[in-house]
Amino acid sequence: MPMALDILIAGGGIGGLTAALALQRDGHQVTVCEAAAELKPLGVGINLLPHAVAVLDELGLMPALASMAVPTSALVFANRHGQTIYEDLRGLAGGYSHPQFSVHRGELQQMLWREAAARLGAERLVSGWRITGAQLDGDEVIAQGVDASGATVSRRASVLIAADGIHSAIRRQFYPDEGPPRWNGMMMWRGTSLAKPFLDGRTMVQAGHRRAKFVVYPIAPPRPDGRQLINWICDRRLREDGLGGGLTAPGREDWNKPGSIDDLMPTFGGWRFPWLDVPGVIQGATQLLEWPMVDRDPLPRWRHGRITLLGDAAHPMYPIGSNGATQAILDAAAIAKALRKERRVETALANYEAERRPMCARIVELNRQEGLDYILDMVEERAPDGFARLEEVIDPAEVDAFVKRYKAAAGHRQAAPAGTSPAPER
Ligand SMILES: Cc1cc2nc3c(=O)[nH]c(=O)nc-3n(C[C@H](O)[C@H](O)[C@H](O)COP(=O)(O)OP(=O)(O)OC[C@H]3O[C@@H](n4cnc5c(N)ncnc54)[C@H](O)[C@@H]3O)c2cc1C
Repeated sequence: MPMALDILIAGGGIGGLTAALALQRDGHQVTVCEAAAELKPLGVGINLLPHAVAVLDELGLMPALASMAVPTSALVFANRHGQTIYEDLRGLAGGYSHPQFSVHRGELQQMLWREAAARLGAERLVSGWRITGAQLDGDEVIAQGVDASGATVSRRASVLIAADGIHSAIRRQFYPDEGPPRWNGMMMWRGTSLAKPFLDGRTMVQAGHRRAKFVVYPIAPPRPDGRQLINWICDRRLREDGLGGGLTAPGREDWNKPGSIDDLMPTFGGWRFPWLDVPGVIQGATQLLEWPMVDRDPLPRWRHGRITLLGDAAHPMYPIGSNGATQAILDAAAIAKALRKERRVETALANYEAERRPMCARIVELNRQEGLDYILDMVEERAPDGFARLEEVIDPAEVDAFVKRYKAAAGHRQAAPAGTSPAPER
């Protein structure tokens, strides 16, 4: 029986809350400090790959997830005319043990928050507390912060997990010279619209090429009026010199910064697919946000004594390949497992890091190499006006081999034994 620890988590995002649920299940006393005074359903769509869904399933969250999310059936790559280049079956249809879910980020976070409040006790979810720093004190950690009134507060724990996102205060304490996130010159406009379901109502599509791409997928079951909440992302390259990162984004990255339709119509206004009216979807936006494509360089270490990092605080990556939330959820499962298997806390945290840090660093690097966009670029270059037969433009076997190589490199394992599966994209 592992020792019950008093664990403090900074950040009640998807990573922090999943970690809280996994650690509470193992008998630890967990407290979550969340900077936001009130949890609102912020963000737009995200995807959970099957191996992350397996973690949430083990936590008993499958019924809640299934009722709010869309089980993605396929990822389709298309050119900017909406013609299919490649179809990759996803979730159960693709031979995985669990579905891939497309879901509204804010609603997922709120569901995790409700579950955590019920299981940990509502008093253990402390909102309006921004952690500002932490010190080691023997076998304990003292975390400092400010509460909603601006008063300075502090709290002792035997472990501190910093799950406080891309602008993590704890990461900054340990790496004060790191500076702002690195931008690759791409801007993403992320929107939601209510629209008639497209294709089979469960497909994710990435259409276009490296300089301008339209990603679209439904994130909720159809409503009684037949319409469905659709998440879409317009990617536009604003700077050509940022490939691989290295630029500073215009303005501080803020997940809730509003975007403008006027910035999109000159590029996407003529993109009418046989199965989707892209400008119509953009014009129908119920929400539109703007976010530069940023990440940070992989760190040499996450752990400092009994303090460690998790999720975006540890490894912010481009939101490509559905890996942002997925990797945070895998971190949560890994840290719980490490503390189950090893009584010495610092060794357990080192084991967690040894399991997760190399993999996450690899995905950061893979995403910088544009991943599967390479295929879209090749087709755009060879057939900018579309094609009559795909085989005349690109060898389908070549595309298939490329996709399989990418998935293997990113750690996706198809048809894995029950309870361990994986797959990719946004
Ligand atoms: C408001 C918001 C909207 C987002 N929208 C999208 C989206 O639409 N699409 C997408 O792909 N990804 C989005 N993301 C990012 C995505 O949720 C993460 O990449 C992924 O889920 C990993 O989650 P995380 O828990 O590590 O980090 P995050 O989801 O960033 O969660 C971090 C949490 O920590 C809290 N926090 C921050 N600083 C402190 C502090 N000092 N002390 C205490 N708490 C702190 C934040 O309020 C947040 O709740 C969004 C993130 C946020 C915060």
